[in-house]
Amino acid sequence: MKTIKDVFENYKRMLKDIYDANEIEAITLLVINEICNLSKAKIKAFPETEILLEQNNELNNIFEELKTGKPVQYILGKTEFYGFPFNVNPSVLIPRPETEELVEWALASVGSRQSAVGSILDIGTGSGCIAVSLKKNLPGYKVSAIDISGEALQTAASNAVLNNVDIEFIKHDILNIKSEIKIPKSEIIISNPPYVTLYDKTQMHTNVTDFEPHSALFVPENDPLLFYKAIANFAITNLTQNGLLFFEINESYGNETVELLKNKGFKGIELRKDMSGRDRMVKAVNSGSGE
Ligand code: GLN
Repeated sequence: MKTIKDVFENYKRMLKDIYDANEIEAITLLVINEICNLSKAKIKAFPETEILLEQNNELNNIFEELKTGKPVQYILGKTEFYGFPFNVNPSVLIPRPETEELVEWALASVGSRQSAVGSILDIGTGSGCIAVSLKKNLPGYKVSAIDISGEALQTAASNAVLNNVDIEFIKHDILNIKSEIKIPKSEIIISNPPYVTLYDKTQMHTNVTDFEPHSALFVPENDPLLFYKAIANFAITNLTQNGLLFFEINESYGNETVELLKNKGFKGIELRKDMSGRDRMVKAVNSGSGE
């Protein structure tokens, strides 16, 4: 009979070439928690607990997939973001903790304005993590979300159902928005668009570059702000006067993104670092009426 301790030792030995020790510990905890239905506290406190044969087989199957470098969130088909559950699959980016900080910033900005109603548009919604967490916290707001990928939109819609919120999902390519398409003006436009360049790609872990959707990640080396330009142009006409624009950004292009927004006439531009001290998000105010 195998014990929890045996599983930890096995995972540690076999995954050491792919992940560091802390990551292996976190992954193993997550997998045992899911398959054996034991709390993380129990797993840690009682390492001699025996594992049923059937569960051991499941753990071995997951382990075979982990060895390929496939992220554990895709193997389990789920993750958590901003305290809410989300379904994930390779059609969507796995939600990142730095994006939670962007959501936090947007919520704090609304809170300080004291308005309980309005509308929000999330551009390139992917799993829907930003849209769903905003709607959960701002139930009086109408939340809409667009994405180029039909599969991503299906996943995002499943996450709206999972979290019991009503969100309007629309299939659009923000780089080619047709002028006849009318999207109602929003008080907030928010986006975590693709921003990884070919250079950044060479620095990234292969379990990101080999498994996560390239259309959600990469931009041409010679036009890294491609999506920021398109979204800023769209926001000029689709944000209300004094409406807020929130971006997650590439840490290497903080000043360039601020400059871009300045040149397009946005005001009150703020650049913020994430918890790792990297330039990671920008907020800007639409000064015009967009007419
Ligand atoms: N932050 C993500 C990463 O490092 C990239 C997200 C994006 O391109 N929007 O993998």
